[in-house]
Amino acid sequence: MIEADWIRQKALETGFSDCGIARCRRLHEREENLVAWLAEGNHAGLSYLERNLDKRLDPSLLVENAQSVIVCLVSYNNGTWKESCRPLPDPQTPWKPAPRIASYALARDYHQTIKEMLFSLLGTIRQRYPEVSGRCFTDTAPLLEKSWATEAGLGWIGKNSLLVSPRFGSFVLLGEIVIDVPMDHYATPFPEERCGNCRRCLDACPNGAIVAPCRLDLRKCISRLTIERPTCTEAISNSSSHSTGPGLHGWLFGCDLCQSVCPHNQHAPLYTLPAFAPLFRPEEMTRETWLTLSPETFGTRMGSTPLVRCGLENLQQRLARDAREK
Ligand code: SF4
Ligand code: SF4
Repeated sequence: MIEADWIRQKALETGFSDCGIARCRRLHEREENLVAWLAEGNHAGLSYLERNLDKRLDPSLLVENAQSVIVCLVSYNNGTWKESCRPLPDPQTPWKPAPRIASYALARDYHQTIKEMLFSLLGTIRQRYPEVSGRCFTDTAPLLEKSWATEAGLGWIGKNSLLVSPRFGSFVLLGEIVIDVPMDHYATPFPEERCGNCRRCLDACPNGAIVAPCRLDLRKCISRLTIERPTCTEAISNSSSHSTGPGLHGWLFGCDLCQSVCPHNQHAPLYTLPAFAPLFRPEEMTRETWLTLSPETFGTRMGSTPLVRCGLENLQQRLARDAREK
């Protein structure tokens, strides 16, 4: 039995913005929805989302004798979305004045940052409780992390399918430590969703990818089209204003539109962790700047950011295609 309040305090000292701890269990009530979402093809053929359904629902299949899920949340809100989500001056020239980049992609890759923080927290826990065994997760294993965040009392899943923290909004990232020891007490699951009658995110999505509240069709989502490496070719063919596929609407990597309109983000505090500081300013980079960027400069300026997942060549092909067809 270990002290939940002590772990929460250590999580905050590690740099997380919030932390909650849930009792480990199978999330059986999520199964029907998840199976239906997959059956409708909303996962856009991303096979890793189809695999390990059982493990997704039950962390004890990932960590032997799992008892507790420590959910850590950190804000990466750098405010750049206020600029990048302004309406396009001319939808016929979507890359002007500058290709749009999702705000999280301007900083060092969060997988690395959060993994280091989780390992540090687990190390601290094990110093005081050497009997603890556990595993750290950050978007890298089949775990329903947004559901676990609601279980741990950190927020609710908004109609755009993202976790919304009542204090930090939705520009947040999650990491989890699943351990094999029970806590002295657990968080109360977040009591309700607070979207109410709002549907701003549904109305703001230019591709209608939020097909119903909490139902995202990844086939239409710009984030999926521009981030996942296997779909980069699809994004290239969708980048032209002549394309009949779902448009990219000036987004070169990621998309922040449905978050930018959320009332819970308008006054949310900015990030405090230096690791989330933007490494470049996308509004200063025109399409021509991107097209002439050398691999060396890309590596120096953006080599630690998530843009590497797509690669400079793919980013430039996306931009070049639009240029050729004009
Ligand atoms: S990220 Fe962009 S494309 Fe995807 S649902 Fe939100 S607004 Fe739509
Ligand atoms: S924009 Fe409105 S409906 Fe969408 S997540 Fe935010 S509060 Fe919920």
